[in-house]
Amino acid sequence: MVSMFRLTIWGAARTVTGSRHLLEGPAGALLLEGGLYQGRRGETYRRNREFPFDPKGLRAVLLSHAHLDHCGNLPNLVKQGFEGPIYATPATAHLATLMMLDAAHVQEENVAYLNRKRAPGEPRLEPLYTVDDAVRAARMLVPVPYDRPFQPMPGVQARFVEAGHILGSAAVVLDLDTRPGPTRLWFSGDIGRRHLPILRDPVLPQGAHWLLMECTYGHKAHRDPRYAYDELREVARSTFEQEGKLVVPAFAIGRTQTLVYLFHTMMQKGELPQVPIYVDSPLAVDASEVYRAHPECFDEEVLHLLRAGVLEDVLGFGRVHYLRTVEQSKALNDQPGPMVIISTSGMLEVGRILHHLKHTITDPRNTILLVSWTAPHTLGRKLADGAKRVRILGREYPVRARVVTVGDLSAHAGRDLLLEYALASRETLRGIGLVHGEEHAARALMQALAEQGWHRVTYFREGEGWDL
Ligand SMILES: [Zn+2]
Repeated sequence: MVSMFRLTIWGAARTVTGSRHLLEGPAGALLLEGGLYQGRRGETYRRNREFPFDPKGLRAVLLSHAHLDHCGNLPNLVKQGFEGPIYATPATAHLATLMMLDAAHVQEENVAYLNRKRAPGEPRLEPLYTVDDAVRAARMLVPVPYDRPFQPMPGVQARFVEAGHILGSAAVVLDLDTRPGPTRLWFSGDIGRRHLPILRDPVLPQGAHWLLMECTYGHKAHRDPRYAYDELREVARSTFEQEGKLVVPAFAIGRTQTLVYLFHTMMQKGELPQVPIYVDSPLAVDASEVYRAHPECFDEEVLHLLRAGVLEDVLGFGRVHYLRTVEQSKALNDQPGPMVIISTSGMLEVGRILHHLKHTITDPRNTILLVSWTAPHTLGRKLADGAKRVRILGREYPVRARVVTVGDLSAHAGRDLLLEYALASRETLRGIGLVHGEEHAARALMQALAEQGWHRVTYFREGEGWDL
């Protein structure tokens, strides 16, 4: 039988970055995701610049969520001739706009800096894409609400369903017009978790024939995130009791809003004393505005707290201090605790967090709270490993503040939920394809699936795929 549709994996193959998958059918080609590949410099630039398909020939892009490894190369796709549309949920469209513009700024700045260091006569470097390209890509975004069917090209009906990973995140359900009957391809995007703050729980696949899914934590069973919330409460309480500052490095989009929501809600419920919360990062402030603008994404708990008047709005805009300017940021140094300062970056490599750290790390009343994964050799990792002295912005400081790590706040499903997700449509399922996971994670999930009697799993290499 001649197959009418072909799915080819061109990214996040045996790795967790650079998601992009090509679906070709009788009426043309669609791209699922347009992610940035993040890795070592030379290889990264080449991989992001060159597409293994013709961007001009794509009829549309379908985007699952706004993380850079899923949307961060869309401006380059546009630069190379793609003319849109890019379908996404309304909240994803909103957040992806912020992400792409921010990424373009960073690239333009980095290239300008490197070019200033070049000798006269040496060829100038070019950014992967510019702010103009990002603006053009943002204009191509077409918001489609959850659970509303749409037709990205003839012969394909698509629908976004809740993924519970970050605000607006979705799985993409594709019903393909095939013979003798329709074929359902279910693309998971990134799978979130149950009981994450603000967000609804992920929807499990229904009636899928082919399931393309992520497996980032296929090797790891998470604890219920509610244990982590109890730990956060205790760390905050003990810091406030000694009038200390609670300093939290966090990524601007997702983790910052989770923390603000948790601390603010605990204060509103009377579980913690009312102390000022400062969010110090312009990007985090913008992202928080996006959260507030999308109540259609909130879970029942938030809606209940809003209805009951416990929360005025989801991220406490009336009480939480959202800082944009450097002057506002600096002014915090002179203010006494207790207070919460949430600032970027999550790994403590760059950003305003370094200034806050410099001003708080030598006082034993303060707490540095680490809630994100940190790469080896970063300042965040050194603190997590218990360093007694650290260098911050070129100067050495003794670590006298308390350093606490609270894990289990990941926004990715652990092994048990991945397994449940994989086999939810077992009755109809023909095959499972694994992407977005390192080898040890994928092997562990395949092993767990085999123990459940399921063997039709492919751990895709780049360029491999399915005839559907
Ligand atoms: Zn993600």
